[in-house]
Amino acid sequence: MTTYVRDFSQGNKDQKDLLGGKGANLAEMTNLGLPVPPGFTITTEACRAFLVAGHEPDGLDGEVDRHLRGLEDRMGRRLGDPDDPLLVSVRSGAKFSMPGMMETVLDVGLNDASVVGLARQSGDARFAADSYRRLLQMFGTTVLGIDGAAFSDRMDAGDLLDVDELRDVIADFKETIRTHTGADFPQDPREQLRQAIRAVFASWHTPRATLYRRHEQIPDDLGTAVNVQAMVFGNRGTASGSGVCFTRDPATGAPGAYGDYLPDAQGEDVVAGIRNTLALTDLAALHPACHAQLLAAMARLERHYRDLCDIEFTIEDGRLWLLQTRIGKRTPEAAVRVAADLVDEGLIDLDEALGRVGGQQLAALMFPRFLPDPDRVAAARGMSASPGAAVGRAVLDSATAVEWAARGEDVVLVRKETTPDDLPGMVAARGILTSRGGKTSHAAVVARGMGRTCVCGADAIEIDVDARCFRVRGGPVVQEGDVISVDGGTGEVFLGSVAVGESLVARGLAGGPVDDPTARAAARLLGHADTRRRLAVRANADTPDDARLARALGAQGIGLCRTEHMFLGERRALVEALIVASEASDRDAALARLLPLQRQDFTEILAAMDGLPVTVRLIDPPLHEFLPDLTDLSVQVALEDERHVADERGHLLLAAVRRLHETNPMLGLRGVRLGIVVPGLFAMQARALAEATADRVAAGGDPRPELMVPLVATERELLLVREQLEQVIGDVERERGVRLSIPIGTMIELPRAAVTADRIALAADFFSFGTNDLTQTTWGFSRDDVESEFVQDYLDQGVVATSPFESIDVDGVGELVRTGVRLGRQARPGLHMGVCGEHGGDPQSIHFFDDVGLDYVSCSPYRVPVARWEAGRSAL
Ligand code: ADP
Ligand code: MG
Ligand code: MG
Repeated sequence: MTTYVRDFSQGNKDQKDLLGGKGANLAEMTNLGLPVPPGFTITTEACRAFLVAGHEPDGLDGEVDRHLRGLEDRMGRRLGDPDDPLLVSVRSGAKFSMPGMMETVLDVGLNDASVVGLARQSGDARFAADSYRRLLQMFGTTVLGIDGAAFSDRMDAGDLLDVDELRDVIADFKETIRTHTGADFPQDPREQLRQAIRAVFASWHTPRATLYRRHEQIPDDLGTAVNVQAMVFGNRGTASGSGVCFTRDPATGAPGAYGDYLPDAQGEDVVAGIRNTLALTDLAALHPACHAQLLAAMARLERHYRDLCDIEFTIEDGRLWLLQTRIGKRTPEAAVRVAADLVDEGLIDLDEALGRVGGQQLAALMFPRFLPDPDRVAAARGMSASPGAAVGRAVLDSATAVEWAARGEDVVLVRKETTPDDLPGMVAARGILTSRGGKTSHAAVVARGMGRTCVCGADAIEIDVDARCFRVRGGPVVQEGDVISVDGGTGEVFLGSVAVGESLVARGLAGGPVDDPTARAAARLLGHADTRRRLAVRANADTPDDARLARALGAQGIGLCRTEHMFLGERRALVEALIVASEASDRDAALARLLPLQRQDFTEILAAMDGLPVTVRLIDPPLHEFLPDLTDLSVQVALEDERHVADERGHLLLAAVRRLHETNPMLGLRGVRLGIVVPGLFAMQARALAEATADRVAAGGDPRPELMVPLVATERELLLVREQLEQVIGDVERERGVRLSIPIGTMIELPRAAVTADRIALAADFFSFGTNDLTQTTWGFSRDDVESEFVQDYLDQGVVATSPFESIDVDGVGELVRTGVRLGRQARPGLHMGVCGEHGGDPQSIHFFDDVGLDYVSCSPYRVPVARWEAGRSAL
């Protein structure tokens, strides 16, 4: 028979699937002998059964009864006993932490009679009344589904009321419940418990929990466990209080405990940023013994979990209780630093450190930051809750943030404090600014989890949502829509837009001078990744500057040098002349003028990558991309005709644009097709590369060029082009009297190429999988149009879990890659292969490419460290 309920003493930290993270860790702390109020956990299995059936599974009620009796016996009190009541909390807790997203009900067991008993036993009628009003409010909103405003309109959560005022509030809250539900607040404690458990189960499916899961890619079918736990009271006067702490700073990773404490407070009060909190050092002054005990518990937990932990604690009448711990969420900056520090402290080894920090987190650290400027003055200052540089229009509520962001605006969400209902706005915003709350506030925790920039507790800001503005104390009024800049690293808030520049981690990894602990830690872990990885990492770089940057960031060559960029700017006129040419002599003249320019580009890039491979892709896009727009040009020529100022060139150009116009250019005359249809074009490019190579050899360099033919579907195309290219290379060899080694390979970016890769391999010296086009042609999604609306709908409706342009679609596109690799090597054992789509820099995809046995991935320069990192993790 299934058992649905486990006592805390029966579980351990590895049972998160069954007990949820909170339950598993409560069990672990209980077994470590830490002061945890006793209780029991109803398993996620029970929740899943409930969600499927719509009611409690058979036997659950009886099991809860049994465990409740056990708890009552231990505590020497009965749930809701009128004379001396046991009260419990009913707490959600899923496998993956979803802070504040689901429900928790505190003080279950209070009613009109037991509130009197609690007052008598505690000798504190105000405390008892305060607890009762909290239960009515939490039960009313969470269990009965009444809008929170119905309660919060009556009293602000920050108000400290006396006992008579509280009694009035209690009467009003009961009345509110009656009018909203048509029934009285349930006085039977066991009935309260039953309903609260049910509400926690059901909270798995609230919209905000669903949204959070989607954002964090947590599966939808796990369900939550429910923890029923004896209450301890932080709201029992000034010798009590509650707090949240971290064993290290979760924003920067700096060693040393960090925490917020609020005297005379319960539960969410700290996190909600209702009153401004005290620091741990203040706690040391108030309750030295509790403080010391807390620090000892923190050290113990950190060593036990071998990681940064966060902890919820409550002090009841001078006695410390631990209510929760988990591996703490942290910023990418902290993740890198903590991992390296734990290695130094001997808690983990380098493999584990690397394994703990995803490439995505390193990627976040490569983004720009605000450039230093000694003259800039902050308008306000808060806590650096989550780093980053956010510039955008201030918006004052979640809905506005979502709406403005949807029309393409960068916004910064400015709130007094955030609640779980603000989640959509936090997702939509570049950054979050609050005027209340500390580093453990809801805003801070959620922003860190999402990697959003966040400054919290900027108390110089007074927000007036009704007037759609905020005032900076002693300063100006900022209207909604005004641009502000928020520095999550320093906690500074600036009016207007601040210039951003290179990140310190990026600078450090590129070999620049930095003195920053995170940058040092990143370099160290990346060095370790290099010792582990099998995959080589190249860069996609089209210019000498990019090539140098990529090399500094550790690229082992260029996997994709696009040549079309070399045809833009002032060279566009030459390309135009080439396309418009009707005589072979005009065309050759245009090509002859392009040749030296292209050669110069190649020479510099080969120099920047001396000794490393440089894969040059022959021109790929449809030629009309270099010509003016058909409609614009038609109008222009018509106007010129009217004014009798038209010249022949205009008409020729228009004719060419008409001729090259395609309904579906991405499936049109591009790639290898250009090489076959436009005489001399590929030959010119090959000559430029061959001459540049000869120049580099003459200069004593070690050039390693490769020529790559795009959009090949059949070996015949490649053979035709190959013939042209080899001839040119042979010509240059003879002219210059050198032997040139320039392998000629192909991109595999059409399904046909992948499934006939064995035949194509016979004409190719190497393969490079172009997964952007391969995704486009496999799914039939236009990659230029798809990104905005349509993939979003697909994501929302769960058709795809992530955009296939972002992370390789393993089942479809990935299968084609697998096939291409297998067939290619079947025909030519040891054939060298890489990937050069955007996917080459995507952490998840890199693991796949490693698995299928590619030799390298190629990605944009700033992604190179991420790819090295992730290739190292893939090999662990
Ligand atoms: P969340 O997952 O949103 O953090 P929790 O279940 O941790 O929700 O509970 C919300 C708040 O209630 C926390 O601050 C917690 O410390 C407090 N709390 C939960 N159980 C108890 C208890 N038994 N006694 C006192 N406070 C409690
Ligand atoms: Mg909560
Ligand atoms: Mg909690």
